[in-house]
Amino acid sequence: MSLPERITRAIDDLRGKSRDPLCAYLYDLPALERHVRAMRTALPAGCELFYAAKANPEVPILQTLAPLVDGFEAASGGELAWLHEHCPDQPLIFGGPGKLDSELEAALDCRIDAFHVESVHELRRLARLASVRGRRAPVLLRLNLKLAEAPDSRLVMGGKPTPFGLDEDALDEALALLRQEPALELKGLHFHLLSHQLDVPGHLQLIRAYCRTFRRISREQGLNLPLLNVGGGMGINYQDHAHSFDWPGFCRGLAEVIAEEGMADTRIRFEIGRFISAACGYYVMQVLDIKRNHGQYFAVARGGTHHFRTPAAQGHDHPFVVLRGNQAPHLREQTVTLVGQLCTPKDILARQQPVAELAIGDLLVFTLAGAYAWNISHRDFLMHEPPQMMFLFH
Ligand SMILES: *Cc1c(COP(=O)(O)O)cnc(C)c1O
Repeated sequence: MSLPERITRAIDDLRGKSRDPLCAYLYDLPALERHVRAMRTALPAGCELFYAAKANPEVPILQTLAPLVDGFEAASGGELAWLHEHCPDQPLIFGGPGKLDSELEAALDCRIDAFHVESVHELRRLARLASVRGRRAPVLLRLNLKLAEAPDSRLVMGGKPTPFGLDEDALDEALALLRQEPALELKGLHFHLLSHQLDVPGHLQLIRAYCRTFRRISREQGLNLPLLNVGGGMGINYQDHAHSFDWPGFCRGLAEVIAEEGMADTRIRFEIGRFISAACGYYVMQVLDIKRNHGQYFAVARGGTHHFRTPAAQGHDHPFVVLRGNQAPHLREQTVTLVGQLCTPKDILARQQPVAELAIGDLLVFTLAGAYAWNISHRDFLMHEPPQMMFLFH
């Protein structure tokens, strides 16, 4: 694997400017833009693409995406306030479990595009708050489906007991409330059952099941709903990015599913996080020390999992590229474990990785670091300095 030349040039530039050993995030915004444009081009007509901001809410990322997506999904009141502040003209979805009254009120004030309601209790509270304000709240009910075959993925959020979404048993009660409450407007249904999906036929099968459920519920309940939100969850293959989720192949199959399931008149909305932002981010650490301990080599580099929790969160060896400095190599054709500066044996970014050459002062550049990375990290632990942030705008 090699890095794009503009990335190595930008890293050289950073290294030249920094007095201490380097530790930085670098984001390639033009690459992000190209990626999302290509995603849109492949999407069939009648489909919408929202960005799930919890994957990475950095402002330059949001502002790069704003003109290219149909809107943003907020999974908390904090994200909602942030999105409203930085992208006030974008349609916003407010989802997530455990919404506060104060957050629902704030969302009503920013004229949200859709509330993803997770329970009957939440629906009741939303009705009360909207009616006090003389507003109509647009609602999508999030359902936790029972499927004949439970989906298989590392992060399953439904199709089995989870805290997410309404059970189908609660649907009658929710719909009765929606029918009698003028302050609520039911716009559609929402499903998000899993993340880390790499299997295109499997995902098409799941979307087909969503469509069938949507049509069945509409028929049984006499509803005419304009919108089906099918969530996100398209996976990144961290060990082999060429085998990440095949978006163009998926979109071809999706067009068939839409036609076969009679969904041409329903808007189908995606809210995708990881698959949009992962590839545009890089996390760079400079090697501080190389040592041998009980027969194994360790490279200690500046930073660690308190900046970049992805490898710890996923329990994987994160892919990286070595950018050699001008020191003679300390290691040749060895395996080495890459660790950060934390006083915990869990601060490991990749285990027993083969390297051709490695020296103190070299840079480790972790790729696919643009999603669920800096923003999920326990950044205050040990009070190390934060990484530098660099955004390449062109
Ligand atoms: C996290 C989340 C997403 C985005 O998931 P990705 O795997 O990042 O695409 C979409 N919808 C809901 C409800 C989520 O919780």
